[in-house]
Amino acid sequence: MSGYDDSARSFRPLLPRPQPAGDDSVDADAHLPSKRPHTRNACEDCRRRKTKCDGKRPICSTCTSNGGSCTFLSPNPDESRSSAIKRKYDEAQDRVSNHEELYTLLKTRSQAEATEMLHRIRAGVAVDSILRYV
Ligand SMILES: [Zn+2]
Ligand SMILES: [Zn+2]
Repeated sequence: MSGYDDSARSFRPLLPRPQPAGDDSVDADAHLPSKRPHTRNACEDCRRRKTKCDGKRPICSTCTSNGGSCTFLSPNPDESRSSAIKRKYDEAQDRVSNHEELYTLLKTRSQAEATEMLHRIRAGVAVDSILRYV
């Protein structure tokens, strides 16, 4: 094998494979398990600035170096953004319907009951607790 001169092979120049502009080609993804750490839950500040976010909590690396505030939509890093939005929406819907119900009660109940409810509101009792009492 040592006697075999393979320098002849080097006649044929080895052209480097043409590199695609983006590294997002399907072929690369098929070969490599996604190498980039893909952060599903980038912080809100990085989203707004369209900067890369490593999703580090409580403050991501980008916000640390920028000295900015860092807020995350969901307190749970494993919760996807869409389910966090859905959950926030549901919570908001609950709050709205609770307040609407309270408003209706204040309109329709007797003066004494309405006054009692008002007392509780002013005492800082949560709306859903007042509704439970009624
Ligand atoms: Zn970030
Ligand atoms: Zn951040």
